[in-house]
Amino acid sequence: MPGWFKPHRTDPKPIDTALWREATAPWLFMRGLEAVDAERLRVLAEGFLGRKQFSGTHGLAVSQRMQVEIAAQAAILVLELGLEWYDGWSEVIVYPSQFAPEREIMDEAGVVHLTNDPMAGEAWLGGPVILSYEDVAMAGDEEMRVAGYNVVIHEFAHKLDMRGGDPNGSPPLHAGMSAAAWKGAFAPAYEDFCSRVDAAEDLFEQDDGEALDALPIDPYAATSAGEFFAVASEAFFETPELLEPAYRAVYEQLRLFYRQDPLARLARA
Ligand SMILES: [Zn+2]
Repeated sequence: MPGWFKPHRTDPKPIDTALWREATAPWLFMRGLEAVDAERLRVLAEGFLGRKQFSGTHGLAVSQRMQVEIAAQAAILVLELGLEWYDGWSEVIVYPSQFAPEREIMDEAGVVHLTNDPMAGEAWLGGPVILSYEDVAMAGDEEMRVAGYNVVIHEFAHKLDMRGGDPNGSPPLHAGMSAAAWKGAFAPAYEDFCSRVDAAEDLFEQDDGEALDALPIDPYAATSAGEFFAVASEAFFETPELLEPAYRAVYEQLRLFYRQDPLARLARA
C-alpha cells in the first residue's frame, strides 16, 4: 500500500462533541471561556491526541474520556501558543493513583539518599509526562477538589519551562517580553512566598494547618523556582482571583506568557 494512503501518525483524532462537553464541563479553567475559544481548545486537544501516545500502568486502561480530559487540560496552556510547544517527546503515562518511584537524590551536603515519596505527576526533560489518574480526576470533582490544585496543568507547565532546558521557572519568553521583568516579578514573589510558608509551618502545631491552607497558592510552590512557576500556572488558570491580588506582577507576566487573561474571563462568567 502506498505510504500516502495511510493516515499520518500525527493526524488529529476527532473528539465526539458529547464526550468533549462531558469531559470538560467540571473544570475551573473552563469558566467564562467563550464558545469560539472552547472550540479552538477542542481542535488543539484533537491535535494533541494525534501527536501523543497514552499508556496505562498497573493494568489501567486509559479510556477515551481520560485521554480527552488530559488533552484538554494540556491544551489550555498552549491555547494561544500552539502545540509545537509540546514537540520533542510523545508519551503520556497514566498511573491509576499516586506512584512512588525509588530515586537517589543528592542533598546539599553531597549525600545521596534513596527516596520513594508518593507523586501525583512527573515531567521528564525530553521524555514522558507521567500522571496519577486519581489526581487528574480530583481536579474535576466539585466535591473532592482543592481549588488551584491541577496536576495536569502543573506537569505541562514544567514541559513549557523545559523548552529552555532544565525546569527552573524561566521558560523561553516571547518577543516583546522582558527577561528582567520576568525575574523582577518572580524572584521577589518566590522569596516572599517561601517566608510565608515558613511562618505558616511554624504555626502548624497551634492552628492545625489553618495558616498553610489560607495561603493563596499551594505551599509546594516554595520547593524551588521551577515549582513556583508550575504552581503559579495552576493558580493562573484555576484560581486567578487568588493569585492576582497576592502576586500581581507574577500574574501579569503569566498573562503575557500564556497570552490569556483568566481573571477577565472569570469576570465574564
Ligand atoms: Zn512540579
